[in-house]
This record gives sequence, structure tokens and C-alpha cells, in this order.
Amino acid sequence: LKASVQSDQTAGGNIGMDSVGDTLQRLRETFSAGRTRPAEFRATQLEGLGRFLRDNKQLLQEALARDLRKPDFESEVSEFSMAQHEIHLALRNLRAWMKDEKVPRSLGTQLDRAFIRKEPFGLVLIIVPWNYPLNLTLVPLVGALAAGNCVVLKPSEISKNMEQVLAEVLPRYLDQSCFAMVLGGPEETGQLLEHRFDYIFFTGSPRVGRIVMTAAAKHLTPVTLELGGKNPCYVDDNCDPETVANRVAFFRYFNTGQTCVAPDYVLCSPEMQERLLPALQSTIARFFGEDPRSSPNLGRIINDKHFQRLQGLLGCGRVAIGGQSDQSDRYIAPTVLVDVQETEPVMQEEIFGPILPIVNVRSLDEAIDFINRREKPLALYAFSKSSEVVKQVLARTSSGGFCGNDGFMHVSLASLPFGGVGASGMGRYHGKFSFDTFSHHRGCLLRSQGMEKIYSIRYPPYTPRNLRM
Ligand code: NAD
Repeated sequence: LKASVQSDQTAGGNIGMDSVGDTLQRLRETFSAGRTRPAEFRATQLEGLGRFLRDNKQLLQEALARDLRKPDFESEVSEFSMAQHEIHLALRNLRAWMKDEKVPRSLGTQLDRAFIRKEPFGLVLIIVPWNYPLNLTLVPLVGALAAGNCVVLKPSEISKNMEQVLAEVLPRYLDQSCFAMVLGGPEETGQLLEHRFDYIFFTGSPRVGRIVMTAAAKHLTPVTLELGGKNPCYVDDNCDPETVANRVAFFRYFNTGQTCVAPDYVLCSPEMQERLLPALQSTIARFFGEDPRSSPNLGRIINDKHFQRLQGLLGCGRVAIGGQSDQSDRYIAPTVLVDVQETEPVMQEEIFGPILPIVNVRSLDEAIDFINRREKPLALYAFSKSSEVVKQVLARTSSGGFCGNDGFMHVSLASLPFGGVGASGMGRYHGKFSFDTFSHHRGCLLRSQGMEKIYSIRYPPYTPRNLRM
């Protein structure tokens, strides 16, 4: 196991594999004792998360810069403010979300109380990827703690600076009896998954999602899988190319393209492509200057493995814009590819980098067929001045989420569920959806011992009277 893993006592919450069993046992005892159930306890943990963000902002921002060279603006909007908003929302609504939900009753249950109780699952495991390493740690954590669970957190070993800050600092802000962190990569996570959890919340690739779900199946543990895939972006002929170029480029190159909901490829007619290319060219120059390599607004690829994978993808189709790369700096220029074949790797795997292929289709129908022939994506984008066209794409396809005439703005709204469908995942979170995801919805009916005369008409021996009940 990696050196960063220390004993319970010294690291305050980070545990070595040899003591995983003991730690899980300790968390289970906390849960069984009912310690995490009161709203006050939950609120204290959420406030702790808020303080963690405020007190350590610079440290966290530096970690994001070291791991991904993430521009401060991008860290602010996609990491800090989303996490802060979720904490704030959960604190403001905690008691309302925790309340039993009354439900309509039938004639035969008129005298009873019927309600849904949101109860915590117990011991929850949260596994995190590297691309938004703070957001994707804290936002699920808010939901799990608000719902009254004990949590084991497994941050990504790949965003190693963030992993280190989380390991050293985060446990100090949470009650040690309900929270622990396990560090490590595939091997350690595999060992961790052999243990029994009451819920597993995984964000990462579909490949590892299958591993997680297989491990969960052994214990019949329910899962949320927040996965990735290729998000289509249909651009209709009836569009303003400058507006589309701005919006598509902003969301494609945000976080250097390393975003699960980034528009992965554009589908448009050859005529639209002719109009879009010069617009994309000037947008990219405006965003990142003539030499994007020296721009403070463009991050870097997370590691050499991903750099090499992306460099391989630059060989697909024909480079229309960008295409430069430098291994020493893990730099890949914002790139647009054209003449791309459906069978090429860039159209087979999730790109997860600053490369945008354009695939030509002759009509809206052909675009919809293209989308529907493939796995259901995490996000789908349609651009058109005609709301009819946007509505048609929405109505005739399926995806985790959808946004008309922009990039992943839908993800910024905590009032919308965020999650995949089919190969892009299962389950949903953000805002109240997170609270509900981390709560078992227990259907309850409370009846008194009175009225036995009336209720006795249901008992055997059955007569025609029973059927009239
Ligand atoms: P990944 O699946 O490689 O790793 C995710 C986590 O799983 C990490 O903590 C890692 O340590 C662990 N892991 C890796 N291999 C494992 C194994 N064999 N057994 C057990 N655990 C293992 O994903 P990644 O490279 O960190 O992130 C990129 C992927 O995540 C992309 O596919 C992206 O689309 C997806 N993603 C999805 C969302 C979403 O919200 N849906 C958000 C961000 C990223």
C-alpha cells in the first residue's frame, strides 16, 4: 500500500489495509449506536465540510493547479462553488428532507398513518476519479453525511496532490467515528471492495464501474455508478456559427477536455462544418491566444499515460485546427479533427482531452440514427435556432442529461438530477437527489390495535363478503 496510508491514530481517519476491517467495524458500531442519525450531528459534519473548504482554499487551489494546471476560474466555478452550494443547500434543507413524507391512503387504510421514512443505509463507500477531484469528493460526501451515513472515502490516486491534501486535512474537519479514508489505486480499491458496504457510490469509467458492480453484487450492495462515454453534440444548419463555436469550444476545452459531460464530438452537415471551422478557429485564438501553450487559460493532461493515449487520437481523421503536442509539458493544443471515420479510435472511445472531431451527417434523422446506434451517453447537446429541432433531438434520443443550445449548464443546477443511463451509469445525485440517493426509502404504515371488528372481515373462512372488501 502507498506510503501515504498511515495508522488510524496518526492520520486521524486515513487507514492502512491491515486495519480496514477494524475501521469498518468501528464505523459500523457508530452507525448502530445511532450517533449519525440526529439532524444536529449531520449539520455539524456539513458545517465541517464548509470550514474545510474555506480554511484550505489556497492549499486546494494549489493542488488543482499542480495536478491539472487548472485555471483558478475553472477551479472556482466547477470545484469550489458547486461544493459550497451543495453544502449550503443541504444545511438549509436538512430538516425538511429528513421529514417523513406522508402518502395518500386507500379506503382500507384511512385510519392509519402511511409515510415514507428516509433512513440512512449505514456504511457508505465513495470512490472518486481524478478530473474534478474536489467536486466529485465533496458533492457525494455532502449527500452521504446529510442522509446520516458513515462514510469511507477513496479519493483518486492519480490526482495525487489533491489526494494528499484530502488525506492530511479533510479528516480533521469531520467526526472520526463516522468517517475514514482509504488511499490507493486499483489493487487497494479491489481489496476494499471485498468488504461489505451498505451502499457504494462510484464515479469513474464504465470499465471500472463493471468491476465495482460485480464486487457489490457479492454482498447485494446497491450502487450508484456515475460513468462516462461519448457525448454527441448535434449542430443544425439553422445556427449562428460564432455562437455555437463559442459555446462548444468553451465546454469542450474546459478542464482541458477532461470532463465526463464535455461535448465529445460534433455531428453536422458538411455545409455547417464549412461555416463552423473558421468560427472555431477564431474562438480558439480568442480564448487561448495564437500560442495556446503559453495561455494561462488552458490546463494540462493529468499524466503521461493519458497524454500518450490522446496523442494517438490526434492521428485520426485530418487535423483542421491545432494538433500540436509536447510530452515534456503534457500539452495538447485545442484541436479540431475533420474527415473522421466512425470506426477510428477517436470515435470509439471517450476522448477526455482537448480534441473535437466533427462527423458529417446529411440530416437530422441521420444524426438521430447515429446517436441511437451507440451507447446511451451521459449528456447530449443539440444546437439550433429552431426549438422544434432541439425538441425532436430530445424526444427521439436518450441520455443521462440534456442541454439545448449550450454545453453542460444543466449540471450546474442542483434542482436537476445528475446521472447516467445505460452504459453512462445508474442513479442520480445533486441537491435533494443526493440526499434521496443516500437514503433508503422505507415504506411505513402504522396502525392501532383498535377497530378489530371492522378488520376481521378480511380473515378466513373466506366468503363472498371477503371479495366485496
Ligand atoms: P477510473 O474508473 O479509472 O477510476 C475511478 C476510481 O476507481 C479511482 O479512485 C481509481 O483508483 C479506482 N479504480 C481504478 N481501477 C480500479 C480497479 N481495477 N478496481 C477498483 N478500483 C479501481 O476513472 P478515472 O480515470 O479516474 O476517471 C475518468 C472516467 O471517469 C471517465 O470515464 C469519465 O467520464 C468518468 N467520470 C464520470 C463522471 C460522472 O459524474 N458521471 C465524472 C467524472 C469522471
